Amino acid sequence: MRIDIITVLPDLLKSPFQHSILKRAQEKKLVEVNLINLRDYASDNYNSVDDYCYGGGAGMVMMIEPIANCIYKLKSQRNYDEIIYMSPDGELLNQKIANQISLFQNIIILCGHYKGVDERVREHFITREISIGDYVLSGGELAAAVLCDSIIRIIPGVISDETSALFDSFQDGLIAPPVYTRPYDFNGLKVPDVLLSGNEKIIDEWRLQQSIERTKKRRPNLF
Ligand code: SAH
Repeated sequence: MRIDIITVLPDLLKSPFQHSILKRAQEKKLVEVNLINLRDYASDNYNSVDDYCYGGGAGMVMMIEPIANCIYKLKSQRNYDEIIYMSPDGELLNQKIANQISLFQNIIILCGHYKGVDERVREHFITREISIGDYVLSGGELAAAVLCDSIIRIIPGVISDETSALFDSFQDGLIAPPVYTRPYDFNGLKVPDVLLSGNEKIIDEWRLQQSIERTKKRRPNLF
């Protein structure tokens, strides 16, 4: 999978892709992430990417021209399954959306800034708008990093124990069961004995029961 991220702050996005699972996914060539500096597509001598808002009011708006130049260039090189704009009023990211996007070959993610992008970008270039929650961030970069993490970790082969991602919360409409590691006894706080029974069937049943109970208690809306 190839992800092209259009941003005015490429440096802000470097770190999330340089560690742990996202780093390994790129090393294994299962995903290629390109950070594209929107200023490289500005058409004036000042590398401007934003301008005043028509109709007045505080705050700048990201101009259509550099974004269009950048998207035209990318689209001339390959086909894209989706051109996504990170936006607080987009569809709310969830596991189902992450699963769906993880199956794509090529996507573009546009990060907004300031007051957002000129509406004509959204109308004519963007195929999907995604929000990471009902709150406003100062830019789309952190939201794009969240989206990418949720997608990349479920690409087959990225997590070495492939089945482990399938048992994460939300994958089967349930919250994940509690997990424990050594020591067995920490100052009297013990691990449930069933997990030491060695009986896979009983352990699976216990985990499922825990998942159901947790989901009922914490996220009954998932039922
Ligand atoms: N004035 C706009 C917010 C602009 S915030 C409004 O009220 O809707 C600047 C940029 O940050 C946005 O263009 C978007 O790319 C990003 N952003 C902010 N909050 C976000 C969220 N919850 N999810 C995804 N992107 C977000």
